[in-house]
Amino acid sequence: MADQCLFCRIVQREIPATLVAETEDCVAFRDISPQAPVHVLIVPNKPIPTVNDVSDEDERTLGHMFIVARDLAKKEGIAENGFRLIINCNKHGGQVVYHLHMHLLGGHALGPMLSGGAHG
Ligand code: 5GP
Repeated sequence: MADQCLFCRIVQREIPATLVAETEDCVAFRDISPQAPVHVLIVPNKPIPTVNDVSDEDERTLGHMFIVARDLAKKEGIAENGFRLIINCNKHGGQVVYHLHMHLLGGHALGPMLSGGAHG
C-alpha cells in the first residue's frame, strides 16, 4: 500500500532487503548505508512510529528485539569484542524512518558514543 512506511514495506517483502533474521515478531536486515562493518536493523513487524509511541502491550516485542540482537551479535562474530545498540527517536535523536527500529553496530571499535561531544 502506498501509504505504508518504508520498513512496513520491507517487513511485508514488498521492497527487497538483505534479511539476516526473521522471527514471528520482527525482521532483521542489513542497513543500506552501513556505518560499521556490521550494521543490522532489527525491526518489529508492528509499525510503532517512535519510542514515544510504545505501549505496555509492546513490552514482549521490545524485549524480544534484544534477544534477536544478542543472537545476531553472536552470529555476526561481534559479541565478544562488543557492539552498540541504538534506537533513535524523533528529530533530535536523528530518526529518519518512523517505524521503530534498533541498530546493531559492530566489527571495529566504534569510538565515543556521540561524535559532537557532550553538548554537540
Ligand atoms: P534512523 O536514522 O531512522 O534511526 O535509521 C534509518 C536507517 O535506515 C538508516 O541507517 C538508513 O541507512 C537505513 N535505510 C534507509 N532506507 C533503507 C532501505 O531502503 N533499506 C535498508 N536496508 N536500509 C535503509
